[in-house]
Amino acid sequence: MKTMKKYILDLTNLQLKKTLKYVVEQDYRIDQIIEWIYVKKTASFKEFTNLSGELREELDKNFFLRTLKIIKKEISVVDGTIRYTFKTADKKYFFAVFIAKNGKNSICISSQIGCNVMCSFCSSGKVKLARNLSRGEIIEQILQIENDAKEKISRVLFMGMGEPMLNFNNIVSALNSIMSNKEIGIGKRHITVSSVGIVPTIKKLADANLGIRLALSLHSVDEAQRKKLLPNNFGFSIKDILSVGKYYLKKTKSHLTIEYVLIKKINDSTVDAHKLARLLKQHELINSNVQANLIPFNPISGVQFQAPEHELIQKFKNILKFNGINANIRRAKGADINAACGQLGY
Ligand code: SF4
Repeated sequence: MKTMKKYILDLTNLQLKKTLKYVVEQDYRIDQIIEWIYVKKTASFKEFTNLSGELREELDKNFFLRTLKIIKKEISVVDGTIRYTFKTADKKYFFAVFIAKNGKNSICISSQIGCNVMCSFCSSGKVKLARNLSRGEIIEQILQIENDAKEKISRVLFMGMGEPMLNFNNIVSALNSIMSNKEIGIGKRHITVSSVGIVPTIKKLADANLGIRLALSLHSVDEAQRKKLLPNNFGFSIKDILSVGKYYLKKTKSHLTIEYVLIKKINDSTVDAHKLARLLKQHELINSNVQANLIPFNPISGVQFQAPEHELIQKFKNILKFNGINANIRRAKGADINAACGQLGY
């Protein structure tokens, strides 16, 4: 009977062991296969040279090792950031970004194709959600980009297209492989998952206690304004979101970032800055494990917003600092190739 070819990256190691047990007798052979896939990041079964030719053929007959194609690669002339456009086997498109930084390279990966949260400052939000990325497609972004860029990736940011907390199971399964020393091997402190604040799922992530960093996309201190900026924010209040942030920190002893896109004359006033400081204080979120990331709005087509002037951004940051908050202005990377924060759309 002809069996359907499976996407090998969609299988956890346990599932792979079960699937292969009739073909591969010795456990160490499976460990070798896992090493070729995740550690050596080899793109073809033919190159698994310490396996017999027969076994390599068997793998090739039964599994796909890659399903994504890089169809476009744009490199920033300003800072060397690379924007990758991937095409899936079912002919859908999404993006990932490689950010070079003196040996500490990061990758910003997608979790969904399109995004239904529809943030008004984000071009991914202009793309209707097509589907979740699978576990394998999440992992393959890292494997392919590390091979293509020929640079080691040491940080992973789930801040590309999509809301990670709406693809929870695949994200957690991918995270287990990303963090495992026998697989990709990136430490929990070097992984950040962002969310607009899907409270029950963040709680689940906290309870899973993976120890990764969490970024909460707040962007406003006013409920009505936040609803305008993030129209499909699932109705969780700012209070609930900050409370779950506090819960996350308590449970995981990890690190929390409050993300705040600064938009001229919308959410950039000194009153907003003071209110943000007050909110963080009320939720006991002023400590060394919490950072406020201020992101000056990056231009996207069809959207009239602007970034505030530099002095205003600095003033906003100083107010937070004055209140004891570890505040940071995020420098845009890859803005000239539409690879910066909020620019990952078609
Ligand atoms: S900012 Fe994030 S959640 Fe909002 S539309 Fe863009 S990808 Fe979706």
